[in-house]
Amino acid sequence: MKNKKIGIMGGTFDPIHNGHLFIAEQVRIKYNLNKVLFIPSGQPPHKDGLNVSEAIHRYNMVNLAIASNDYFFSSLIEIDRKGNTYTIDTLKQLKTIYLDSEIYFIVGYDTIETIHTWKDYELLPEYTRFVVVSRTTQSAGNLINLTEVFLDKVDFFETPVIDISSTEIRQNIYNNKSITYMVDNQVERYIYKHNLYRARWYMEDIMIELKKNVSEKRYIHILGVIDSADELAEKFSVSKEKARLAAIFHDYAKGMSKKSMLEFAKANKLDFDDIEYGNKELMHGKIARYIAQNKYNVNDNDVLNAIEFHTTGRKKMSKLEKLICLADYIEKNREYPGVDKIRNLVDIDYNLALYTAFNGTIIHLIEENKIVHTRTVEARNYLLSILNEKGVCVWNIF
Ligand code: ATP
Ligand code: MG
Repeated sequence: MKNKKIGIMGGTFDPIHNGHLFIAEQVRIKYNLNKVLFIPSGQPPHKDGLNVSEAIHRYNMVNLAIASNDYFFSSLIEIDRKGNTYTIDTLKQLKTIYLDSEIYFIVGYDTIETIHTWKDYELLPEYTRFVVVSRTTQSAGNLINLTEVFLDKVDFFETPVIDISSTEIRQNIYNNKSITYMVDNQVERYIYKHNLYRARWYMEDIMIELKKNVSEKRYIHILGVIDSADELAEKFSVSKEKARLAAIFHDYAKGMSKKSMLEFAKANKLDFDDIEYGNKELMHGKIARYIAQNKYNVNDNDVLNAIEFHTTGRKKMSKLEKLICLADYIEKNREYPGVDKIRNLVDIDYNLALYTAFNGTIIHLIEENKIVHTRTVEARNYLLSILNEKGVCVWNIF
C-alpha cells in the first residue's frame, strides 16, 4: 500500500535558484507531499559536459538553498552513479528505496517538451507521475511527441511564472550583474566565494572564437583534449578549471599559416629559438600563450606554460604541463600505433606514460629525418630520472 507521496526535483542545479524552490513548494502544498527530494544530476547527457560545474558545488548549493525548509531533502544518487545521468535509472533506484511511496516528478514545461528524447522515456510512467509547472509565458508548445499512455500520468499545474533560469544567473555573474533575490542568499555567497561562473562563460566565448579559427577536425581534437584533460585532472588531483583552460587554448593558433605566424611573431615581438623559428609545429604553442594572455587575460603562469610547452614538453615540467601534453597524446580521437598502450600506462604511472609518449615522438622524428627540439629530449630525460628515482620499471614499447 502506497501511503506516502514524494516529490522529486531533478535538475542540473547549476545553480539552484528561487524558481526551483518556488515550484517545489507549490507542488508540495497542492499535492500534499510528505517531502521533496532534490536530486542534482551527475554528468548530464543533455548538456555540454564542458559547461557544467563540478557536482560537489551543485550539491552544496542545493543543500544551502533547502536548509530552511523541513520538507526539502537532497540526494546524491545521481552524482554517485558513474557515467551519464538517466532519469529512468534514478527512478528504478528510488522505487527500491521508497517502497511505500508514490512518486511525483516535478518538471518545468520546457522539460516535458523534450522528454521524448530521454532514455526509455515510454517506461518512465511505470515509475512516476509527472507534475508539469509553468515556465516562461511563451512555452505553450505542443506535446505531440508524447503517447497517450504517457500523458495519462502527466498533470499540468498552472503556477505563477517565475522567469528565472540558471543560464541567466550564470550570465549575470559573468556580466557582473546582480543575482540577489534570484537565488538563496547563502547560494549567492557560495557562488562568489568559489568564484563560480566567471571563467566558465568566458570559456564559452573562447570556444566560439576557436571554432572560427581552426578546422573542424582540429576543433574535434581540441574537444577531445578538453575531455581528456578533465579526466586526467581528477586522476592527477589538478584543478579542472586550469586543465580545461589550458586544453582549450593549446591549439588555438594551430590554424594559422606559417606566414601569418611569422607576421604575428614579428608584430608582437615574440622570441623564438632557432629550432622553433619557421616551424609551425613548434611556434603555435607560444603564439597561443600570447593570445591567451593578452586577448583573454589568462594570467595563471602554470596554465600559460602548459599552453606554450604542450608540444615539446621541457625539463622540470609541472603536473599541469604534463597533464596537457598527455591529454594531447591520448585524447579519444588519436589513432597512431601505440596510443592504447600509452593510455593504459596512465593508470600505472603518468610519468611513465608521458616518458613513453615522448620516446615515440623522438623515434618518429628521427625516422623522418626531422629535428628534435632539445626541450623534448630534456623532458624525456627528466621523466626518466623521476622514474629511476622512484624505482619504476621502465621499458620501451616502440
Ligand atoms: P539551465 O538554464 O542551465 O537549463 P534551469 O534554470 O533550466 O537551468 P535546471 O536545473 O535545468 O534549471 O532545471 C531543473 C528543473 O526545474 C527542470 O524540470 C526545469 O524545467 C525546472 N525549472 C527550472 N527553472 C524553473 C522556473 N523558473 N520555473 C519553473 N520550472 C523551472
Ligand atoms: Mg534547464
